[in-house]
Amino acid sequence: MSRRREPSLPGSTIGVLGSGQLGRMFAIAARRMGYRVHTLSPDEDTPTGQVADREFNASYDDLDAVRAFASGVSVVTFEFENVPAATAAAAAECCPVRPSGQVLHITQHRLREKTFLAKTGLPVTPFRRVDSIESLGTAAAELGLPAILKTADFGYDGKGQFRISSADDLAAAWQGVGEREAVLEAFIPFDLELSVVAARAEYGSFVHYGAVENHHVRGILDLTIAPGRVPEKTAREAVEISRAVMEALDVVGVLCVEFFLKKDGTLLINELAPRPHNSGHFTFDASVTSQFEQQLRATCALPLGGVKQLTPAAMANLLGEIWADGEPDWEAAAGMPNVKLHLYGKLTPRPGRKMGHLTALANTTEAALRDVLEARRRLTRG
Ligand code: AMP
Repeated sequence: MSRRREPSLPGSTIGVLGSGQLGRMFAIAARRMGYRVHTLSPDEDTPTGQVADREFNASYDDLDAVRAFASGVSVVTFEFENVPAATAAAAAECCPVRPSGQVLHITQHRLREKTFLAKTGLPVTPFRRVDSIESLGTAAAELGLPAILKTADFGYDGKGQFRISSADDLAAAWQGVGEREAVLEAFIPFDLELSVVAARAEYGSFVHYGAVENHHVRGILDLTIAPGRVPEKTAREAVEISRAVMEALDVVGVLCVEFFLKKDGTLLINELAPRPHNSGHFTFDASVTSQFEQQLRATCALPLGGVKQLTPAAMANLLGEIWADGEPDWEAAAGMPNVKLHLYGKLTPRPGRKMGHLTALANTTEAALRDVLEARRRLTRG
């Protein structure tokens, strides 16, 4: 357990590495509680920078810039786990970093993450390390086909993934990952995808938002339904596995565990994200304390907030495709009083780019799902 740390109180400044929508929603939560926020990333006029007090523009590899940034804040957190380990280490020379660089190191690399989970005795999708076309052939024979080849590092939203259905696909998949270290995973014919977003404080206290149900389109999250429509026993198991993951990693902050629920009712961990997650966005509108405020509280060594969900909710992502025929009809969607609109301030809509999301609040998950889909339809009804 970490040494007792003085809390960073309202009025102090929090540093965020990364500048996307997760940092933006973190900054909104932090400013609401009277904190100042600085963000550092290679980009300008960013989703986080538009809301933060100061936006620093530097490469993550510019360690002097990272040290200067970290020297001006009380504590550093991140909204993007793919910042290099050396960046987190440079920041840690100047102030506390939460979650720690060690958590980042494990979760930013699929192979390290899966190896860690398997060694800890947690249920993970069967996998093999691959570093040549020959070892890919051996791994495919051991795991069976179909399987999915994924880059070992820096993958998200289904990028860097290649499905292998027969031996004929092996060469193309190996080329697809750039002929470098990769992970072959058994293809899991799952019934449903679930996730648990949870928070853990400096001294080990743990809270969670329950198991939510996720639907992906082309590898990108499309819809989250909270609570997930799964048996109570499944939801409980997912939470217990998530607690075990956070304890094993000694995470101080927010972490999301994504699961496959197999037809036989068992759960397998697909992947971890050591930060607020898209599947927890509903908490911004539906829960006593949002996942972003929990990240703030954990980062600042404050007690965690209540996690009661006030109403059933459904969240639908707004990808760049929504802009295909021009500006979406915001007024039509705003005509639904139980639907909340979130836009991330991104300047250029591109297909597959997460531009915003909608959250519907209703008395039942079915009604929330119906309304969020209707609101999204209204955006493009022309
Ligand atoms: P990932 O970025 O690894 O979470 O993959 C994105 C999505 O692709 C997942 O949410 C699943 O819908 C699908 N997927 C990834 N890996 C597998 C697998 N081993 N078996 C079945 N579907 C998968």
